[in-house]
Amino acid sequence: MMSVSNYEDVFLVGCYVNSDAEGVRSPKTKPEASNIFLQPLVDDLKVLLQQGFYYDENAFSISIGAFVCDSPARAFILNIKSHSGYYCCSKCTHRGERYMRKITFPSNAASMRTDSSFKEKLQKEHHLTLDQNLLETINVGCVTQFPIDYMHCVCLGVTRQLVKLWVKNKNESYSLSKSQIENLSFENIVLKKQFSSEFPRVPRTIDELDRWKATEYRSFLLYSGPYVLQNKLDEKRYRHFCKLHFATRILCHPELCCQFNNVAKELLEEFVNDFVYLYGQEFVTYNCHSLKHLYGDVLKYGSLNHFSAFKYENYLYQLKKTIKKGSNVLAQISNRVIEKSSIIKQETRRELFPILKGALKDNTFRAIICELFKLSARPPDNYFCVNKRVYILTKITAINNDICIFAKEVKNLQRNDFESRSWVLNIYETNCLLISDNEEKFNLTNIDCKYLYFYIEGYSKHCFIPLLKNE
Ligand SMILES: [Zn+2]
Repeated sequence: MMSVSNYEDVFLVGCYVNSDAEGVRSPKTKPEASNIFLQPLVDDLKVLLQQGFYYDENAFSISIGAFVCDSPARAFILNIKSHSGYYCCSKCTHRGERYMRKITFPSNAASMRTDSSFKEKLQKEHHLTLDQNLLETINVGCVTQFPIDYMHCVCLGVTRQLVKLWVKNKNESYSLSKSQIENLSFENIVLKKQFSSEFPRVPRTIDELDRWKATEYRSFLLYSGPYVLQNKLDEKRYRHFCKLHFATRILCHPELCCQFNNVAKELLEEFVNDFVYLYGQEFVTYNCHSLKHLYGDVLKYGSLNHFSAFKYENYLYQLKKTIKKGSNVLAQISNRVIEKSSIIKQETRRELFPILKGALKDNTFRAIICELFKLSARPPDNYFCVNKRVYILTKITAINNDICIFAKEVKNLQRNDFESRSWVLNIYETNCLLISDNEEKFNLTNIDCKYLYFYIEGYSKHCFIPLLKNE
């Protein structure tokens, strides 16, 4: 699968299905050698890199951005030790320590790998073979062009590991009690209605934890986690989790990810170092260690969303749904992809934002859909920020294409200063919700971003948290 940088669309460039003579899919789906697997791709890329291509009579040149993979796929493609090997880190030369039958990384990172140190195989123990990787023949940097994927490493990796430690490990100093777990489930259900319409999945109970998807761990880490954990985890572990929350929010933000990259780096280093004594060395494995390297990939590629596997996993899920039977899998996939691409060609008309929805009387509208978010006069889509002030939307009007947003300010908000470095994120809190009587008028261009509002009956805190792009 591939995508063009800064575009969300994913397209298929090749598909490998391990099948028998009748075309029936075999359960063993991994090819034996990565260079055999890569050969058709590298052959095509060689031509494209040299000659570019024509589309609609326009000439295009191409360059390769990054290879987005989970850690087993990265290890396979690069022919390096898997995440259970001593020298498995694809970014640094740190030798792992065997501890309680796991390879762990309790100490600080060692010297960093470079594309040339990889090519020269300076640390032989890192490589499975001394053969040249085919990607190097088209000048792919096998270290810098293989960023760490945040969906697998942070959401399905460290965040899932933490939630499981709290709820599944019993009788540990960090274990949550039965009543705390029940409260967590209940609060997740309450917050369901407070997640805005941009979220494809809303929180589920802890009983369904084994079925939580990556997007659910992402919204727990970036949004609801710090709110629902504040009265459950002890102070040290709560602050520890918040470091991961703040750092990931910084690295997911299109501008803050570079501006405060150093803050995120510091927070993640502290998070990984503290993990050892808060939970135990046996849990500081490959994913946890990889957090220390995330900042570098962000400096090269932009926010975590620019090089995460989310959109590819989504495409893969859609693709898998098209397979109706176990035989002729490749033909089925190919037919569906061709059908879909012809439909997309017919529908090249792109929607022009903003779109007004639900006309009411007196030139007012129920909602407005912008490119990145939806606003309406009803919760949970009615909070936004202008010049570091949070507003509650009351009315949307449009007269002769002149769209106006009317709203009242939320007063007495305090910027979250829980972590000395968290102020950069513009998360606001108050113990007493106070809304101005004055209605103010805005244009859409005034709005800096949409906000989510969390409040659970019985909690003292009301929390306003900015919506990040790509939920
Ligand atoms: Zn490393």
